[in-house]
Amino acid sequence: METHRRNQYLEAIGIDVWVPRSSGVSQALEAPLPAPGAGASGPAFPASPGSVPLSVPLSPELAADWEKLRAEVSACTRCALHATRTQGVLGVGNRQADWLIIGEAPGAEEDRRGEPFVGRAGQLLDAMLRAIGLSRETNVYIANVLKSRPPGNRDPKPDEVAACLPYLMRQIALMRPRLILAVGRIAAQNLLSTDVPLGRLRGKIHPFGELNTPLIVTYHPAYLLRTPADKRKAWDDLKFARGVFRQLT
Ligand code: URA
Repeated sequence: METHRRNQYLEAIGIDVWVPRSSGVSQALEAPLPAPGAGASGPAFPASPGSVPLSVPLSPELAADWEKLRAEVSACTRCALHATRTQGVLGVGNRQADWLIIGEAPGAEEDRRGEPFVGRAGQLLDAMLRAIGLSRETNVYIANVLKSRPPGNRDPKPDEVAACLPYLMRQIALMRPRLILAVGRIAAQNLLSTDVPLGRLRGKIHPFGELNTPLIVTYHPAYLLRTPADKRKAWDDLKFARGVFRQLT
């Protein structure tokens, strides 16, 4: 991706001055970012066995497992949130993607539309993903820890997380992502079973689950909308994640 395009993406995120190269950052992290899909400079990410284009259908067995999961989430009454939600929100994107993005829980707009991250925070998330060559239309899948909206956008309660997390674990098992990006404190702390502050979880590879999938933590886009000064740190996180992905064989 040429500098001009990259700067447009950064501007969309709200970072209007390009981050200068720092000596501590490897060349791989600072390599030009190609546009989503392909382009003169090649695909956004190196082809990999798990990297299946959206146009390739799921195997019938996988499709049936996903359908079963979707139906269970739609009918779920495991926690009190089922009484106040409009619908369960399972996820969106390419179920054969290498990248899995995990947020907290559906908000009002997501509850209405049945899709994660479609409000203002979602627009920022999309811009952040685009900046590293990813999009929900092509090469990522997006899900939440909770499938039902907590009223008034309050934090999920521990019993709600305990009831809902098995659905996310089934999504992960079906998808087998190569990299997980947890956005925000709630997602990060619940996935990693820790109460370590988000700031101390950033910038590290956390091996997740039985497959030791690399999990990387960054800020929640809703937080970044409230705290634009931290967008630059989120950009560092995205570059870190991209660099980690590129190191995967
Ligand atoms: N915030 C989240 O964590 N997830 C959504 O789907 C929307 C907002």
